[in-house]
Amino acid sequence: MGETIQTLPQEAMHESLFLSGSLALDLVNTEIIVRDKKRDMLSSTAALARWWDEACEQHPDDCHFVVLEKPINWNTNLLLEVKMLRTVLRTLYTCLIEQQSLDEDTFEYLNRILALGYPALHKTTAQSVKPVIRLRDPQQGAIILPIALSALHLFTTKDQQRLHVCKNERCILFFYDTTRSGTRQWCSLSCMHRSRSFHNYHKNNVATHA
Ligand SMILES: [Zn+2]
Repeated sequence: MGETIQTLPQEAMHESLFLSGSLALDLVNTEIIVRDKKRDMLSSTAALARWWDEACEQHPDDCHFVVLEKPINWNTNLLLEVKMLRTVLRTLYTCLIEQQSLDEDTFEYLNRILALGYPALHKTTAQSVKPVIRLRDPQQGAIILPIALSALHLFTTKDQQRLHVCKNERCILFFYDTTRSGTRQWCSLSCMHRSRSFHNYHKNNVATHA
């Protein structure tokens, strides 16, 4: 795990990740804008492994709902599968927010991932069990299935009016608004501050040059 994500400071990585309130949205949010350039936080299998570790800390119920019988094999194929799912989810959430009609292929793709697992019972103590999902093949679906289940959950049990993209027009992060008032507009407070100072700067510039 010697690999590092080039030049991106550690704080910037943590500041923008895991703020969306949903595992599926957090995956979409691994593509961020830093200094006007799109940056992929999943630039390698090592970066994916690090992201997944943190995702499991942030969303333990989602991540551990799918029971793994073998350790995850962090290979390029898995990285490509995760990125493909990310692209599909970005399309899905963009369509939902912009109230466009949803594409049949998107659902077919998600359904194929959901079919990689099946519901089962998992014994927790001598007398209790909990419902889990088991993989049909120990290596297929390790990461993508829990994320697809999170997407399914967001899509079918949550209020889609509360799904948003950050109000900062130079930011591409999504979030699910869990505030009581339902008035959250920004992915993070620092993004709100950045957006406001950017606008103030330009407003002042226009004023001085007028
Ligand atoms: Zn933002």
